[in-house]
Amino acid sequence: MERETRVRFAPSPTGPLHIGGARSALFNWLFARRRGGKMVLRVEDTDTERSTRESEAEIMESLRWLGLTWDEGVDTGGERGPYRQRERLHIYGPHVKGLLREGKAYYCFCSAEELESGRQEMLSRGEVPRHQGDCLSLPHEEVKERLARGEKAAIRFKVPAGREVVIPDLVRGEVTFKTDGIGDFIIIKSDGIPTYNFAVVVDDLEMGITHVIRAEEHLSNTPRQVLIYEALGADLPHFAHISLILGEDRSKMSKRHGATSIFQYRRMGYLPEALVNYLALLGWSPEEEEEFFTLEELARAFSLDRVTKSPAVFDSEKLNWMNGCYLRKLSPERLLSHSLPYLQEAGYAAGEIAPEREEWLKAVLVSIQTKVEYLAQVPEQASVYFGGVKDPEEGEAREFIRKGRLLLQELLQRVEGVETWDEENIKEALKVLGKDLKIKGKSLFMPVRAAVSGQLWGPELPTLMCLLGREGVKERIAHSLKWVETEK
Ligand code: GLU
Repeated sequence: MERETRVRFAPSPTGPLHIGGARSALFNWLFARRRGGKMVLRVEDTDTERSTRESEAEIMESLRWLGLTWDEGVDTGGERGPYRQRERLHIYGPHVKGLLREGKAYYCFCSAEELESGRQEMLSRGEVPRHQGDCLSLPHEEVKERLARGEKAAIRFKVPAGREVVIPDLVRGEVTFKTDGIGDFIIIKSDGIPTYNFAVVVDDLEMGITHVIRAEEHLSNTPRQVLIYEALGADLPHFAHISLILGEDRSKMSKRHGATSIFQYRRMGYLPEALVNYLALLGWSPEEEEEFFTLEELARAFSLDRVTKSPAVFDSEKLNWMNGCYLRKLSPERLLSHSLPYLQEAGYAAGEIAPEREEWLKAVLVSIQTKVEYLAQVPEQASVYFGGVKDPEEGEAREFIRKGRLLLQELLQRVEGVETWDEENIKEALKVLGKDLKIKGKSLFMPVRAAVSGQLWGPELPTLMCLLGREGVKERIAHSLKWVETEK
């Protein structure tokens, strides 16, 4: 019987969760879901200086916000814990001892300075620098004595010379590396903390991980890991290295390309369902033409066979478009609850909101729903409804008001006579006004738009006027007319 699928997402808590990490987590999650397997969240905190609990918490919150859950992890616990590497030091010990005993690893007393000068020497000879210490040949007795004296030592893995390491990869096929380019590398630092390459192998083994799905940037580490698996006499997990995410200029995605962390996207008002949908398409392609998927639909459709070897290009325009599509599908209630923080930040809403005001806010948001791609754009689009009378913007808006003076005066007279102040009646009133004055199209609508909003763009005119209210419209038209009269 096939073993239960177990995958892991193993972030280093040295910063926020980025787009690339989120995509790795997503692919792991989808793969596990599809196969009815388990997802482990392991925190790789062996970098003692840069790892923080704050980053760990932020990463977990970002994952949860995206809807990506885990079956075992630092907070949920599980049978194969603990799930923080620094809490697993007792687990690495026996494996290291075994390697030392079998001569597959050795103590190294070299100081950082000694190693650096050796490195420089190799570079000056035009060689690729790799470790070439003498500690391998130290007599056993000397090693024992120096350790007993309390001398600091790291433990190095002895890399077999002249071999080829073949990595079977579910995305990339077979990838071959030569061991001659790999120097004996440290597996336990002199402070007793394991290095990434060692901890990752022991943990994946001990946690029963069947598939290692991670970013391509780890591929160069994988031959070292494969050698450790061999030395421990263990079978390899299946590897799948997913391609890099590039910025639009085809260089590796970085801060230069704009927002990169999930928190930043969240703050800008992207919806988690849009972001995961977009991330899924970065490197994976569905069988059908369809582009819109919920997480559950993705889990049904996902397979590693359709993950491409070529790098994915992060197209923020496409993400914006997709997010805009998701925003358009929100009900007025959800649109309001999602937009409220942005309205509050702009000073457009505060405290408890009365039911009538809530209905008005919903209508305001619906009127701009097709014009925003992410929610941080809401205040700008909605600004026309807030802050009372508006002076017309410089340029064309002013010109329309100047030219439309008579029209605006007439409209001001008629506003009072519109029966119920609703969109239909307003539309009708504008139509009749145009007919009576023999003005139509732009010459009719633009002066009115400029007078009530100060600008020439915005929501549908009857909707805008309806939501501004009869009094609001009167006030704004009167203000514009006054503005023309006093204009120098
Ligand atoms: N801790 C590594 C990172 O955050 C991931 C290692 C792995 O997936 O093997 O990049």
